Amino acid sequence: MKSNLLTTQWPRLPRDVVLRLQAEKLRRYLREVVVPFSAYYRQLFHQHGLKADSIHSLEDLEQIPFTSKADLVNRPDKPQRSLDFVLIPDQQVLAGRLATILQAAVHGREQVRRSFEIEYRPIFMTSTTGRSADPIPFLYTSYDLDRLRIAGRRVMEICAAQHDFRLLNMFPYAPHLAFWFTHYASTEFGVFNLGTGGGKLMGTEGNLRLIQKIKPDVLIGMPTFLYHVLQQAVEEGLRCESLKRLVLGGEKAAEGIRRKLRNLAAKLGSPHVDVVATYGFTEAKMAWAECPFPVDESSSGYHLYPDLGIFEVVDPKTGIVVPDGEPGELVFTPLEARGSVVLRYRTGDLIDGGLVYSPCPHCGRTVPRLLGKISRNSEIRSMQLDKIKGTLVDFNQLEHVLDDAPNLGAWQLEIRKFNDDPMELDELILHVQKLNDVAEDKLCRELNNRFVERTEISPNRIVFHGADEMRRLLGVGTQLKEQKLVDHRPKKADAASLTPANAEGKESKIEVKS
Ligand SMILES: [Zn+2]
Repeated sequence: MKSNLLTTQWPRLPRDVVLRLQAEKLRRYLREVVVPFSAYYRQLFHQHGLKADSIHSLEDLEQIPFTSKADLVNRPDKPQRSLDFVLIPDQQVLAGRLATILQAAVHGREQVRRSFEIEYRPIFMTSTTGRSADPIPFLYTSYDLDRLRIAGRRVMEICAAQHDFRLLNMFPYAPHLAFWFTHYASTEFGVFNLGTGGGKLMGTEGNLRLIQKIKPDVLIGMPTFLYHVLQQAVEEGLRCESLKRLVLGGEKAAEGIRRKLRNLAAKLGSPHVDVVATYGFTEAKMAWAECPFPVDESSSGYHLYPDLGIFEVVDPKTGIVVPDGEPGELVFTPLEARGSVVLRYRTGDLIDGGLVYSPCPHCGRTVPRLLGKISRNSEIRSMQLDKIKGTLVDFNQLEHVLDDAPNLGAWQLEIRKFNDDPMELDELILHVQKLNDVAEDKLCRELNNRFVERTEISPNRIVFHGADEMRRLLGVGTQLKEQKLVDHRPKKADAASLTPANAEGKESKIEVKS
């Protein structure tokens, strides 16, 4: 069977074959699964006069309107909106299908009923990590968990994991994709794994204790958290000579933080670690990885699974699909999902090297790959950085500028009003921890130069902190994610009633997507 070819030969098919098989698979998926059983898409297809059989090639996918986060967020008139996206099978439709009748004839009705349960009954969920908005739940059926395991095993293979590795899962223990994807990936691949639950559960100290005890080959977690743990290990003079891979996920991994992690691992006695990044999101119910690459070369991008989903790269303004290798926003359509299903999901994530199909220069696999840096558009929007000193600021760019800065360890950007007066000008304060015994005035000069060269703003003040104070500011071990940017400006609506005293203690409302 042709679709089987896409599944069994996924890492070695040429571009034209991939696109043809994906179109066939998509058409069947829409016809047999999504349109009959999704309340949302049945209505959407009806409204637009679309039919599953209108999809002849992947170009036809553009006929289907986008779905975005705004479509999933609850509204007062629709308090459970995400449930509209859950597939609910129609017993009559299923019972009338030839395949069902044949299966019942051969295996009996009970067996058929059981197989539909496996395919369609939600038994698990993860949710988005939004802090300002309600988290959006995504439901998995047993069938979805099998796909989660398949994608997990593939991440392990692409990262060149070995069965005798010991892996420490340092993602926060929460109903979020990163922790559970890692758990299922490890058990499916067959590698010893232990979840520490991240910093919130047992603190940096607890994570360090486990590193000493387990002597892991692989650490997997959020780059900023791994950085803090390894930094503390170095400060305490610990050794950890077993490390082979640091696998990053949950937030973007700038080249600078990879270099810093490699340096820390070397100081701990592991000079040859591969630092690889993963990319995933709740709505896809899976993640993708880079393959290991030599230190002096660049990443070949995230290796995709063409049989499990389709990525498109679109112009973020016009929504039109851009040619291979061109930058744009990532749009995802699953090919096998059950439970919660979104089609042509606009991630809000921008990729600067686009989608490519050439064989991977490092591992040789012929899979579609996402090349270059991923920036999260949603971060820019939710932080409203355009208001800093009246200049449009791209936090993604700032983050790269700071993560790549030499002699700079952990950092945090704080925006506040001068004298905490809501009518006053914005102030940008950069909190830093310096590295390598560099002189403070020298680092200040370097940082100011970097800001001036690459952005249109520069910090009003640079404040130096020790490692402990920096960890406290960033919320390591107390927050789910490190607070790399905090906005202590009084909110506009209540600015008039805010006094400096209560403005001071206000929690940041910044949402960082995972
Ligand atoms: Zn590769």
